[in-house]
Amino acid sequence: MSGANQFLLECPVCRAKSLVTGGAKIYCPPCGYEADGTNGAADWVNNVLGIVEQPGHRKRAIHECPACKKEALVAAGSAGGSAKENFICFSCGSRWQDDELLICQECSRLRPADEFEELIICRSSVGFYVCHSCYEKVFK
Ligand SMILES: [Zn+2]
Ligand SMILES: [Zn+2]
Ligand SMILES: [Zn+2]
Repeated sequence: MSGANQFLLECPVCRAKSLVTGGAKIYCPPCGYEADGTNGAADWVNNVLGIVEQPGHRKRAIHECPACKKEALVAAGSAGGSAKENFICFSCGSRWQDDELLICQECSRLRPADEFEELIICRSSVGFYVCHSCYEKVFK
């Protein structure tokens, strides 16, 4: 997960496949469009996917990035050259496949699947899986 994690996506303004992600901002050299990761993710989801996020509702297309903690992780479908659903962070440029991220049942964030811990609730034989930071909170 380095800053060199750059790849090209469809630009929300000119629709050329020339939008550069990663490095805390996104930009499109041909048309001059530029935004930070959070605003860029919102523009991209609105204009390219056609999804308008409703304030107060659970977000469908933009999530908190597990790597940089910005609200810039986009469920980008097959964009970026992947055959299946993948998640791309418009801020740090990190990228995950669909099955590499799980939603934590405690904090409702997408977290890397290998960070999950099984939480056994007292007097309940049923454990459930939560992300590492929620697990830490419970045992502090
Ligand atoms: Zn453009
Ligand atoms: Zn990120
Ligand atoms: Zn959690």
